[in-house]
Amino acid sequence: MTSSHLQLDSVAVHAGREDLAELGVHAPPIDLSTTNPLSSIEAGGLSYEAMAGGGTPDPEGGSVYARLWNPTVARFESALARLEHAEAAVAFSSGMAAMTAAILATLKESGGRRHVLAVRPLYGGTDHLLASGLLGAEVTYCSASQVAAARRPDTALVVLETPANPTLDLVDIRAVVEAAEGTPVLVDNTFATPILQNPLDLGAAMVLHSATKYLGGHGDVIAGVIACGQEQAAALRRVRAVTGGLLHPLGAYLLHRGLATLPVRVRAQQANARRIAAWLQTHPSVARVYYPGFDGDPLGLLGRQMDGTGAMISIDLHGGYEQAERVTSATGLFTHAVSLGGVDSLIQHPAALTHRPVAPRARPAASLVRLSIGLEDAEDLITDLDRALATRHSISFSATAAPAQATPETRQESDRPLVEAAERLGRG
Ligand SMILES: *Cc1c(COP(=O)(O)O)cnc(C)c1O
Repeated sequence: MTSSHLQLDSVAVHAGREDLAELGVHAPPIDLSTTNPLSSIEAGGLSYEAMAGGGTPDPEGGSVYARLWNPTVARFESALARLEHAEAAVAFSSGMAAMTAAILATLKESGGRRHVLAVRPLYGGTDHLLASGLLGAEVTYCSASQVAAARRPDTALVVLETPANPTLDLVDIRAVVEAAEGTPVLVDNTFATPILQNPLDLGAAMVLHSATKYLGGHGDVIAGVIACGQEQAAALRRVRAVTGGLLHPLGAYLLHRGLATLPVRVRAQQANARRIAAWLQTHPSVARVYYPGFDGDPLGLLGRQMDGTGAMISIDLHGGYEQAERVTSATGLFTHAVSLGGVDSLIQHPAALTHRPVAPRARPAASLVRLSIGLEDAEDLITDLDRALATRHSISFSATAAPAQATPETRQESDRPLVEAAERLGRG
């Protein structure tokens, strides 16, 4: 059965499984072979050549060696490509391995151009990778509105993330693509997922996911994937074949299984998040709630670019870093842990953790805490947050000598260790 006309939910369940009935199985087989018997030197050599060049295995020569090709991984890739409206997808051992390959492949194919425009804010690891100079790129950080002015003749790639991590700022993908004037744009779509946003439809050249997050959805696989056109996919496979940032087939199996429930999970987590974000806005301990649409959606991107508001929320707490320390250690149902997008809710402090390596001036505020909303009952999550947020009130209201509000000075005090740690990292 051809499935090209199917709706999103049907694609999520069936993509990458088209041949299973023919194989006489119901669940996708997991192929753990690291090497494959060869029919002849000649056929094996030709297949090797095809794959090292970024192509698919030759049917006669087989897949030769698992660093070049794995059928279980290829199934997940074909399913994800369908969900992202892409010709192809290439999977990696982590989101950062995928980002590394995307930058290396783009620079390699760009005829000597080495300049990368990075639209901040970005995930801390991405920001750090670009700043590290490891990949031989010259990087300019800018805002979305500065892309046209910051672009140079030697700009090879524009990198952006929307919603951005951790402030949930929305970036107008189509506007950046236009400002890039033909320079390829890579969109990190980890927060939105293909359920809420398809950047390739808006002119992006590549879509990246930390599949560790929503695609896997259960906190048990580290992986990354890039959806793109056939030509870029071949370039990415060439990089993957030589650098070896492979996704293990067991991880690919779990990710493929995760795709089937992705639409249902994302919508249910989003429904929880909307309810919790609205409740947080009324909470006296919360200075500001960052959630798509809460700033009035000045660019008009909700409904046009992003089909929903997602399940990530950030909050600015009265009381700065010290209050963030109290709240993150006081939750019960929310696990105090980095990462996001799973079925269980997480709380973490970006400035100290996920965004620690980012330059101090671009780092999130010390009073900011990020929530990844899971599939628990929304009322239970609210009760848990309410209890955790109340820790400060009992302290400040019961002790007469304690200041009700942290003064700017004390806030700076509490920011000091973070600033110093980041400076050390920057120097080291
Ligand atoms: C986690 C994350 C990454 C990095 O992915 P890993 O799988 O941890 O390597 C990249 N971008 C975003 C937005 C992320 O949240």
